[in-house]
Amino acid sequence: MNISRLLDRKSNGFSILENNKVFWRTNSLVTYKRCPLYFKLFIIDQKEQTLDLPRNIAIAHGIIVHRAVEFLLRSYLFGLNGSTNRLLLEVIDNTIAEILEETNNVENKKLFKDSIEYGYLAKKAFQAILSLNQKIIDVESVYLYENDKFILKLTPDVILSNAIVDLKTTSKPLSNLYIYDDYNWQLSIYASLFGVEKSYFIYVSFADMDVRIVNNTEQKNKTEVLETINKLTDKVLRSEYEPRKNPLCRFCKYQSKCSLFNK
Ligand code: SF4
Repeated sequence: MNISRLLDRKSNGFSILENNKVFWRTNSLVTYKRCPLYFKLFIIDQKEQTLDLPRNIAIAHGIIVHRAVEFLLRSYLFGLNGSTNRLLLEVIDNTIAEILEETNNVENKKLFKDSIEYGYLAKKAFQAILSLNQKIIDVESVYLYENDKFILKLTPDVILSNAIVDLKTTSKPLSNLYIYDDYNWQLSIYASLFGVEKSYFIYVSFADMDVRIVNNTEQKNKTEVLETINKLTDKVLRSEYEPRKNPLCRFCKYQSKCSLFNK
């Protein structure tokens, strides 16, 4: 297995390594916890993951906002604050072009919003991060955590001096947010393994053109987190891929292959 492929932020991030250790990307681990059957069909059977537009347009919006916020934070860290407007729009346009190239259909361009809208929301999210009044330690980097059973690839959006921040984009109004257990658990993994006390979601809403900071109140401690990951690792090594009903079943593209759906 090529290590640079494993470390790519976009990789699926699941492999069983030569020494029988499991390599997880946090997203894959969360997917397996939510529904082992979905994980099998989506991550193991479908090796190449490409953006499927228009179906995945919400993911594309998320990628653009993440890139734009990353750019603003890195510029801030390098003291470029104030001279970044034009460059920000360039980053957004380049990200859209990259996604269009990947999906190989220029007609998909109509699905995207105006670059100024993405830029406006990214700036609001950036200001929300600054309002937490903590030192910015790192942005959109890849880390590895290893124990005797697994290697976990961690890709936190933002690490602050005593908190982790996860950006979420949504087409819903901020008054109608539903935070899935998966999201809380993913933030608990980051916060506990990075040894910080707090974790926050910053919700970016295209419906309201606004952002909201949400404190993760369901945070688990490091022992609980590692116990759960060890159990999931043992389970995947036994090739257990049973379906598990969850709030995302109604959006699942594998409903026709699932014995639990419609029950
Ligand atoms: S419908 Fe639900 S339980 Fe069935 S595979 Fe999809 S996510 Fe899993």
